[in-house]
Amino acid sequence: HGAISFKDVHFAYDAARPILKGISFEVPAGKTVAVVGPSGAGKSTLSRLLYRFYDVQSGTITIDDQDLRTVTQKSLRKVIGMVPQDTVLFNDTIAYNIRYGRPGASEAEVTAAAEIAQIGNFISQLPEGFETKVGERGLKLSGGEKQRVAIARTVLKAPPVLILDEATSALDTTTEQEIQTALDVVSQNRTTLVIAHRLSTVIGADEIIVLKSGEIAERGTHAALLDQN
Ligand code: ADP
Ligand code: ADP
Repeated sequence: HGAISFKDVHFAYDAARPILKGISFEVPAGKTVAVVGPSGAGKSTLSRLLYRFYDVQSGTITIDDQDLRTVTQKSLRKVIGMVPQDTVLFNDTIAYNIRYGRPGASEAEVTAAAEIAQIGNFISQLPEGFETKVGERGLKLSGGEKQRVAIARTVLKAPPVLILDEATSALDTTTEQEIQTALDVVSQNRTTLVIAHRLSTVIGADEIIVLKSGEIAERGTHAALLDQN
């Protein structure tokens, strides 16, 4: 489920300055495709188009052969889960923030999702556990802890399509590796679009697309791209 296709996609925030100049690629159902490239190349714009924050100016994006322009944002958000670079949490309990992925999830399901996101340890050290309030008037979480909450939320939501938009870019190396491990579990057998800065963080992707100035400069597996460069 959730095969993604970009066909000759053009996009500009401002007509005078094209950002994406005819992008075509596919993410087969259950596979992972990573988009890497320098800052400003248009990588995040791809994820914003897939999430329908904006619509393409020409070309098409489809999920399971359905044109995104015929899908409401509401139904799209049931299909797509997004882990951004900097997760913003609600000023509420950790449980509330995780459960946002699927309101009505049982306590056992929240705990299981937290285990997959590897926050069990951190939560067990808090006096109020999952009921600890976070945000402005609660506990201030580190970047890595916030990402773990976002991952737990996504695990609960269990969307067929996942966007990881620089989900580990803001973290230190040790935390990045831990979060990456959790993300690898979440993206398994799920159609996943990964946006990343560096080739070294997307070794396991089925295909890697190198985006430069809004065009696909190179594509291939990690090994193939290393051979060429
Ligand atoms: P990347 O993710 O590869 O760093 P982005 O997709 O975020 O690149 O941005 C591509 C280009 O689009 C950049 O030059 C950026 O300044 C511009 N851009 C991004 N968002 C907007 C926006 N909301 N309005 C105008 N320009 C934008
Ligand atoms: P939704 O229709 O699911 O509310 P949004 O575009 O508002 O979609 O949010 C996309 C995702 O970002 C949500 O599923 C949620 O995980 C997260 N999110 C949105 N707003 C907030 C917020 N204020 N605090 C924490 N997370 C948020």
